[in-house]
Amino acid sequence: MATDFAATREMFDLPEGVIYLDGNSLGPLPCAAAARVADCVTGEWGKMLITAWNRAGWMDLPRRLGDRIGRLIGAEKGTVVLGDTLSIKVYQALASALELRPDRRVILSDTGNFPSDLYMADGLVRTLGQGYELRTVAPEAVEDAIGPDLAVLMLTEVDYRTGRKHDMARLIAKAHATGALVVWDLAHSAGAIEVDLAGAGADFAVGCTYKYLNSGPGGPAFIYVAPHLAEKARPALSGWLGHDAPFAFDLDYRPGAGIERMRVGTPPILQMAALDASMDIWDRIDMADIRARSIALSQAFIRGVEATCPTLALASPRDPAGRGSQVSLRHPEGYAIMQALIARGVIGDFRAPDILRFGFTPLYTTMEDVEEATAILADIMATASWDRPDFRTRAKVT
Ligand SMILES: *Cc1c(COP(=O)(O)O)cnc(C)c1O
Repeated sequence: MATDFAATREMFDLPEGVIYLDGNSLGPLPCAAAARVADCVTGEWGKMLITAWNRAGWMDLPRRLGDRIGRLIGAEKGTVVLGDTLSIKVYQALASALELRPDRRVILSDTGNFPSDLYMADGLVRTLGQGYELRTVAPEAVEDAIGPDLAVLMLTEVDYRTGRKHDMARLIAKAHATGALVVWDLAHSAGAIEVDLAGAGADFAVGCTYKYLNSGPGGPAFIYVAPHLAEKARPALSGWLGHDAPFAFDLDYRPGAGIERMRVGTPPILQMAALDASMDIWDRIDMADIRARSIALSQAFIRGVEATCPTLALASPRDPAGRGSQVSLRHPEGYAIMQALIARGVIGDFRAPDILRFGFTPLYTTMEDVEEATAILADIMATASWDRPDFRTRAKVT
């Protein structure tokens, strides 16, 4: 294995005494990010003021970062751009894809999709009217539900709750055979598993950077448009920075070249500075190494839990090939158990109604972390130390 995971762990500023198994929700702080953001604030914003858009390269940052992320998801150069949040990018990709299939009205997704993606689709359908329809089926039923009336298949590759992974290449092939386009959400894929957008023939893809890519809370999202669609896709969110000539200030919108048109407004430069620092780590990484290590860690966790915690049920696919980089367990008192774990320094999270989620992130999670986390979980279950009223009190963010 070429990647030195002991070295990458040193590149993160992890608090003492914490085993962090929630990098699938919010990645930890890369050591270099704080200084990079500070320099962006005082050195660039502070000293250069507005001239930094040119002199510090701020205006090109969304594209430059797009190429760095693109390498991790098998995207061709110049096909990915950063900006906005993932929910916005879902809307944008879906709207453009629908416009490219004007004779069809059906969007197909699955009931395991992240609610925000479904809400955005629902909002778009309401705005469009004209008989547009969002259909959802169980994740396992997606392939059979792809029919000749389908305009756009909109899926999140890895289920945020169970970690179940769709077969991207297979579903794209089936959708394309019926004449539909596909929008992939890579929120739990980018930096987690190997993705080959170009190889799979993907049309549109979107994702966020604050999960496995460690850009920090509120970090910008990304959008990918396949080269053969990039000049045809018309952005429904047609902002000035996606215009062909933003500083001509034309009154009429004219989409920019290729992926540029998917930009909307002013990019969040401070967040992008943090992402830029994080990508310095990712630039050295081979995703095949990440995947192999992630599987080793998650398999060890499953083995440990199943050997010691008979009341916790595996909610993720047992076959690692059918799963992303997380392991989910089910228990009716899942919330309280997770709070007990967090109190003991093992941080995962909880998803209603009964899922305990654990993310495995090889850049900074070791096999010793997994063994220790498993032992703590086993102790909490054996002693029922989760059974306290304060552990049952739900916080705003679970
Ligand atoms: C995390 C996540 C989101 C969050 O969207 P934001 O706009 O960044 O808050 C959306 N979709 C999926 C599939 C996610 O996993």
